[in-house]
Amino acid sequence: MPAWDDRRFVSPTLDPRAPDPHRQTLQLDTALQLLKASGQAGPDGEPGSDRWLQGLIDALVDLSSRDALTGLANRRSFELALTREIDRVARSGEPALLLVLDIDHFKRVNDTYGHASGDLVIRSVGRTLQDTVRPMDLVARVGGEEYAILLPNCPAAFGPQVAERIRACVAGTRVETPSGQTLGVTVSIGGAFAPQWVRTTPTLWLERADLQLYQAKDEGRDRCCLEPAAVSQVSAEEKGLLFATSQFQELL
Ligand code: GH3
Ligand code: MG
Ligand code: MG
Repeated sequence: MPAWDDRRFVSPTLDPRAPDPHRQTLQLDTALQLLKASGQAGPDGEPGSDRWLQGLIDALVDLSSRDALTGLANRRSFELALTREIDRVARSGEPALLLVLDIDHFKRVNDTYGHASGDLVIRSVGRTLQDTVRPMDLVARVGGEEYAILLPNCPAAFGPQVAERIRACVAGTRVETPSGQTLGVTVSIGGAFAPQWVRTTPTLWLERADLQLYQAKDEGRDRCCLEPAAVSQVSAEEKGLLFATSQFQELL
C-alpha cells in the first residue's frame, strides 16, 4: 500500500511555495484608486501579500455594497439582506418589518435651494434614520430620495410605534444649507411585515410596502401607513409561490 501523500491534495495555486506557471501580474491600480477616492485607507500588510489582497477584496466588497452619497447600504445589498431575512422568517417564524420611506416634496428643495442643498438633505435624513433605529436594523438608500429599513424581530404590535418614531425624528431634523438657511424635511412611510407562513420574494415584499407608501402620500404625506396585520395580507402572488409547487395545488 503506498504511503499517504497529502501533497496530492494541495492545489498548486493555493500553495504559496509552489511556482504557478499561469500566474500573471494582477492589475490593481484601478481598485486602489477607487478605494482612495472613497476616502478609505489602503489595505493593511505588505502590498501583494495574501493579507493585503484579502484586505483589498474586503474593502471593495464593502464599497460595492454602499451608497456613495450617504454611506448607507445600497439597493443591491439591501435586497440581498431581504433575501436572507425571508429565509430566516420562514425558518423561525419571527416577525420582520420592512419600511419604505420617501422624502416629501423633495423636488421643491432642489428647485428652491439647489442640488447641493438637496444632497445635504438626503445625507442628513440618512444619518437621522441610522441614528433612530437599533444596531440590528438595516437602513438603505434605495433610490434618489428614497430609503428602506429592514427591522428583524419586530413584533406586529410595535410596528406602528416604530414607524411613527422614525417619522417624528425626521420631522425634527434641521438641515443647514451652504447659504446659511435652515430647512425642515418630512418623509412618508409605508410598511409591510414578511408573511410568516409563505416564502415571499424581496420584490413582492417591497411592492407591498410601496402600496402603503402610496397611501401615505395620498393621505397628505408626513405620515405612516402599515399593513394592518402580519398574516392576513399575503398577496395572491405570494400565495402562488407556496401553492404552485406543493400538494396544496388543489386548494387554488
Ligand atoms: P413626493 O412628495 O410626491 O415624493 O414629491 P417629490 O418632489 O419628492 O417627488 P419626485 O419624485 O417628483 O422628486 C424626486 C426628486 O429627487 C427628483 C430628482 O431630481 C431628485 N433627486 C433624485 N436623486 C437625487 C440626488 O441624488 N440628489 C439630489 N439633490 N436630488 C435628487
Ligand atoms: Mg421618490
Ligand atoms: Mg419624494
